[in-house]
Amino acid sequence: MQRYFVTPAQFAEDRVEITGDDARHITKVMRGRLGDKFILSDGVSREALFKIDDMDGHRVLAVLLEPLEMNHEPRLQVTIAQSLPKGDKMETVIQKCTEIGAVSFVPFLSERTIVQYDAKKEVKRLERWRKIAKEAAEQAHRNRIPAVDQPMSWKNLLAAFDGYDAVYFCYEKESGAQLRDKLKPFVEAVLQADDSKASLLLVVGPEGGFTEQECRAAEQAGAVSVALGRRILRCETAGMTALACALYESGEMGGV
Ligand code: SAH
Repeated sequence: MQRYFVTPAQFAEDRVEITGDDARHITKVMRGRLGDKFILSDGVSREALFKIDDMDGHRVLAVLLEPLEMNHEPRLQVTIAQSLPKGDKMETVIQKCTEIGAVSFVPFLSERTIVQYDAKKEVKRLERWRKIAKEAAEQAHRNRIPAVDQPMSWKNLLAAFDGYDAVYFCYEKESGAQLRDKLKPFVEAVLQADDSKASLLLVVGPEGGFTEQECRAAEQAGAVSVALGRRILRCETAGMTALACALYESGEMGGV
């Protein structure tokens, strides 16, 4: 069933007015008719089945039919810290990792970041990234829209490490620790109880990779440097791969 996100304020009532892109999607793309049902989520704590009560080309008025349980979110809360890649690769990272189950994104600048940071374009770009996260979350039946932070400096990224239960620094030159060796004991230790949650930050470099110095600094700030097997992945592939591995290991990909 089609689903849409509205703000918690909109969701406060049993009747919700939907405008903008979502209203257009319901009326034009889905060719909605009175009585058609869809799911609305406030992206935080409420989700329910609604039906169309009234509409015109620009707005849809929906009434609540029944509350639904929110149970599509992973217990392992993975954040992807991605050194800004070239072109529209960050959009790919956000879209794919949202589908897989990342809970937030932290773009950052590192020594070999190639893109020029343009503060003027920043607002528009951030808006676009957040829209991509929202649409991917709807498509993937997520209950939450992953947060997308403003690009941060390397220094601020290191300072943020403390906020996570574990930080894995994906380092293409790592010859010791493999992601799985670190993941297995971590997941077993932190996700013992059925309702327990844990947070993990995956740090991924740009096209040119990380420098040795950056790796040392990350380790000093509390990260564990890990390799993702014996092949080198492109920067936009590394995060989604590590994320899928982490969620598989924590039993989030079914079959456990
Ligand atoms: N240009 C570099 C590769 C950079 S890959 C080179 O040729 O060596 C871009 C980023 O993806 C890396 O900084 C790292 O964060 C991640 N990555 C890719 N393959 C990896 C691997 N096998 N192990 C760990 N991290 C990897």
